[in-house]
Amino acid sequence: MSSSTHTVDVVVIGAGLAGLASAVELAARGLKVCVVDKNDHLGGKMNVLSVPYAGPVAGSGATVDGRFTFDMGPTIITLPNVLREIIARSGRSTEDYIDLVNLDPQWRCMYEDGAVLDLHQNVDTMAAALDKQFPSALPGRGYREFVEYSRRMLRLSEKVFFYKDVGSPIDMMRASPMGDPRMLADVLAMRMHSTMAATAHKYVREPHLQQLVEHFLQYVGSSPFLAPAILTLIAAAQVDQGCWYPMGGTRQVARTLARIGAELGVTYLTSTTVKRINADGLRATGVDVTDADGGSARTITARHIVSNCDVQRTLAGLLASPAASARRDKVASQYTPACSGVVLYLGLNRQYDHLLHHDFLFSRSAKAEFNDIYTRGEPAADPTLYLAVPSRTDAAQAPDGCESLYILVHTAYRRPHHDWLNADGSPGPLLKSYRDVIVNKLRRFGMDDVEQHIVVERYLTPTHIDQWYNAEGGAIYGLASHGRLQGGFKPRNRSLVLDNLYLAGGSVNPGPGVPMVMMSGVTAANALLHDIGIDPAKASSLSSPTATSTGSRPWAAAAS
Ligand SMILES: Cc1cc2nc3c(=O)[nH]c(=O)nc-3n(C[C@H](O)[C@H](O)[C@H](O)COP(=O)(O)OP(=O)(O)OC[C@H]3O[C@@H](n4cnc5c(N)ncnc54)[C@H](O)[C@@H]3O)c2cc1C
Repeated sequence: MSSSTHTVDVVVIGAGLAGLASAVELAARGLKVCVVDKNDHLGGKMNVLSVPYAGPVAGSGATVDGRFTFDMGPTIITLPNVLREIIARSGRSTEDYIDLVNLDPQWRCMYEDGAVLDLHQNVDTMAAALDKQFPSALPGRGYREFVEYSRRMLRLSEKVFFYKDVGSPIDMMRASPMGDPRMLADVLAMRMHSTMAATAHKYVREPHLQQLVEHFLQYVGSSPFLAPAILTLIAAAQVDQGCWYPMGGTRQVARTLARIGAELGVTYLTSTTVKRINADGLRATGVDVTDADGGSARTITARHIVSNCDVQRTLAGLLASPAASARRDKVASQYTPACSGVVLYLGLNRQYDHLLHHDFLFSRSAKAEFNDIYTRGEPAADPTLYLAVPSRTDAAQAPDGCESLYILVHTAYRRPHHDWLNADGSPGPLLKSYRDVIVNKLRRFGMDDVEQHIVVERYLTPTHIDQWYNAEGGAIYGLASHGRLQGGFKPRNRSLVLDNLYLAGGSVNPGPGVPMVMMSGVTAANALLHDIGIDPAKASSLSSPTATSTGSRPWAAAAS
């Protein structure tokens, strides 16, 4: 290894949202931070695809010359205050960086029997619409009760999980002594003997509504039939705090964090792979890196490390000690990867008026679908399709009269026999056959002519997710939240292997999804600050925005 290129206070491995959030928090307290990512963009899974199109628009006689732009990863943003608070702690205003729009209805849900259910944010509006649509079942009251229960679980999570470095029930009790009687009542209401689905079904009996509420668990890539009841909190998080879209695309979240980091002096090394975390006894001393092609090996020395790389890949791939291997084995024995996914990015030269910004085309049976994905470990024979249609809110995402249609199908994490791609990277047998399943389903849901309007087609598979983002099993959402007790917990943000190594991202506490991984990044940063004697709550330097001296606008590379 050649001599050090530089020395920093903190190296952050990975420029996913958790890594970017950590970097902002640490730099705002005056630490010198370097973020290293193997990809050429910042934002990790919050990636972007932009494809030019010059050609006709169906049915209008017009031609266009523009671009289809797709957010390749996250499209639904919940708990916007997590981002707002990071921005505020850096001494800035959200409005100066990002234009967040609340979407209501939040989802349109379509069923094979022809039923269509819109998820309205207002609980009274939703309950009234449900009673009108299902007059014999009158599910409105049960829906209200379900939301009320999920609010208790959110309130509990805010007290015992959020922004706390916990990895087990014992950590939780230690971090939050149960002195408050209301909190104790909420803990007892967690129904640790039960599952999310069984708990939801206590309140919600109407089958269409059951499928809708069960689907909140897809935000963490887990089966509602295997996950604990506390995860009903996801419903309250969206119902009470909204379902948001940043104008210009969800990628604006990554750009915002990257831009603020740059203003605070964070340096970004893209197309740079961390090969190894160096250690001296129980302390990390830095990282060995190479360029993406494996050349130009060098060392960055650092006082502390935050790894935003998948927890198992960090422990098994970047650390060489027996302690790291043992910890990796423990994580692997306690958890399985969360679900993976297949995405089709379709540029269409027409629009479909029956679609909202977010649509679910549900499977016939959630039980069979989740059994395929999470128990059998295979793509679902009859999957649910999630569609993102951003032009409903933001016309700039597709040429006039056209649609950047994003179709995500959750599937099992990657198994060796899943031939999504051929060795040369072209679509493999499984991708080809599953594309037919997906397109046939679109045809059944009011898009019978879709095939003839596809003018651009790209795809993402579990193999890409594994390789591009270094995600174990090609998991979209880190580790599955399965197990009635364990399912509520993820590995801690302190590594438990090296004293100055911290973990952030979807595979560690508090879990996956845009707001949670940002929270994870903040929690890892807070643990680090705490360990070096800085009180994160008091010590913010609140530095004011400054232009970067390079003038090269490094944040412009975020997800672009
Ligand atoms: C298709 C898809 C749809 C999704 N939809 C939603 C949604 O609608 N809403 C939502 O909230 N969430 C959604 N998610 C999940 C969400 O994107 C993730 O939970 C979140 O973005 C993960 O962030 P992260 O910080 O854990 O890191 P990641 O985004 O996984 O980034 C980790 C980074 O580390 C880098 N890295 C790894 N190893 C190394 C190494 N050795 N050296 C250098 N760099 C390394 C990788 O290149 C990567 O950039 C979706 C994800 C996908 C893929």
